[in-house]
Amino acid sequence: MYVSSALRRMLSGLLLCSLRVAATQELRYPPNRIAVIGAGIGGTSAAYFLRQKFGKDIHIDVFEKDNVGGRLATIEMEGNHYEAGGSVIHPLNLHMKTFVKDLGLNARTPSGDLLGIYNGDEFVFQESEWFLINIIKMIWNYGLNFLRMYMWVEDILDKFMRIYRYQTFDYSFSTTESLLHAMGGDDFISKLNMTIDEAMQKSGFTQRFIDDIVVPAMRVNYGQGVKINGFVGAVSLAGTDSGLWAVAGGNKLVCSGLLYASKAQLIQGTVTSVQEKFRSTKPGNTVKLYEIGYVTDRGPGLDLYDIVIIATPLNKNLGNIEFVGFEPPIETSSGPYQQTVATFVHGRINASFFGCSKPCQFPLSEILTTDSPKLFIRSISAVSPVNPVPESDTSKASGLRVWKIFSPDVLTDQQLRQLFESYHAVKVRNWLAYPRYSPPEKIPPIKLHRAIYYLNSIEWAASAMEMSAIAAKNVALLSYHQWYGKDEHIDQEDLADRLKSEL
Ligand SMILES: Cc1cc2nc3c(=O)[nH]c(=O)nc-3n(C[C@H](O)[C@H](O)[C@H](O)COP(=O)(O)OP(=O)(O)OC[C@H]3O[C@@H](n4cnc5c(N)ncnc54)[C@H](O)[C@@H]3O)c2cc1C
Repeated sequence: MYVSSALRRMLSGLLLCSLRVAATQELRYPPNRIAVIGAGIGGTSAAYFLRQKFGKDIHIDVFEKDNVGGRLATIEMEGNHYEAGGSVIHPLNLHMKTFVKDLGLNARTPSGDLLGIYNGDEFVFQESEWFLINIIKMIWNYGLNFLRMYMWVEDILDKFMRIYRYQTFDYSFSTTESLLHAMGGDDFISKLNMTIDEAMQKSGFTQRFIDDIVVPAMRVNYGQGVKINGFVGAVSLAGTDSGLWAVAGGNKLVCSGLLYASKAQLIQGTVTSVQEKFRSTKPGNTVKLYEIGYVTDRGPGLDLYDIVIIATPLNKNLGNIEFVGFEPPIETSSGPYQQTVATFVHGRINASFFGCSKPCQFPLSEILTTDSPKLFIRSISAVSPVNPVPESDTSKASGLRVWKIFSPDVLTDQQLRQLFESYHAVKVRNWLAYPRYSPPEKIPPIKLHRAIYYLNSIEWAASAMEMSAIAAKNVALLSYHQWYGKDEHIDQEDLADRLKSEL
């Protein structure tokens, strides 16, 4: 008798206790407010997808400390605007394609320039205007390596494209690794853990091809050599495909368009902190929220949200946000970002710098470089404005063009005088551009806390506009499914096979 009443007391105590826990753990159904930190392509596409997923009644704030667009930005030079950050988009980047279509924007095709690859002494490869001559040169110098590279990248792209199907069917992933695994299985994961150099050597590419062709592609796209991880290396090689495009008027128009279409409210300010808070609604009921601390022109502010999406790199120099009072602490120190300086020069290129002694025909408009200590630039290419204006006959005849140079450091006057016979305008934009990759890659988590999601985790696999858009759709789906407990739409195995039969 005594035992059973004690047991009853214990049980009712337990029940009360669990009810109390249930009360303090209550979430709002549906959630009322979502905060997105960062209005680059990641943050603005997240706002767009969140609106689609959570519906018209949810309030979405997007915080931006600088310009909408982030690393999609243009630079003005003598009345024209040029892409200074993310510039080209692959023809199979379906989210970017859809955004442009849905927002009523137009695509533009950057001009197909003749390309040369310079090693500090001579051109190891120089494109000709004649298709047949190019083929002969490629085979003569590199055998079937070009063709094999094309097939290698195609195979990776085929697997990459699976993500669109998964996302159409509402599936989401709680880690960047599980997202990549769902696309390309162990092969994609292993690419994160080896260099592109190792990955290509393993697949039988010659060292000469890697040094002459692959290194320059990595240098122009990611400011790093072939020690970057195999996955981002493959993304970079896809950037050598034909059919690359950009958005007429500037890629950043996609961000302002998505923000407008999402009906989110833009708060022009810097987020400084995120802290978990408990708020009583009715007696015995407490909801868990996040309090965001921020600073605008009008002073500091605090606001409460149900869900927080972080759409900026959590790096002291980029998105310096303090996570207050979390236990265990939220790890915010991501690895370093690579500096890339974009210098725009309106002038006449000095062909003799590239070993072309006078009088010389210099038809090239894009010069990539191999890894040579002699070189202080990674690439130089003639660029067109984002709103193309026909090149005047006088500027054509005079050889005056606008050139974009990527270099690791700001160019000195002396270096500019070496590169140009003459110039009359210079503009510089210094970026912490993309992660400094170093496999095996330690990929940061997507889920930082109960309802805090980190979109830029994906950059540590590969940084690109489309990657941010994929990550944005993923966090929109993931946050929705986790909020409503729809576990069957998270981290599902064998989706490629399971969805084969679906229309
Ligand atoms: C020079 C260069 C060339 C590139 N070339 C290409 C290319 O050709 N093709 C391609 O696909 N990709 C390219 N990329 C990469 C591409 O631009 C990026 O991967 C992509 O733009 C990242 O977008 P994001 O929204 O994730 O981050 P971001 O664009 O960095 O957006 C983050 C935003 O958050 C804001 N922010 C940060 N901290 C806070 C805070 N505390 N409070 C409020 N706001 C905050 C920032 O101001 C920023 O606007 C290039 C990048 C660079 C720099």
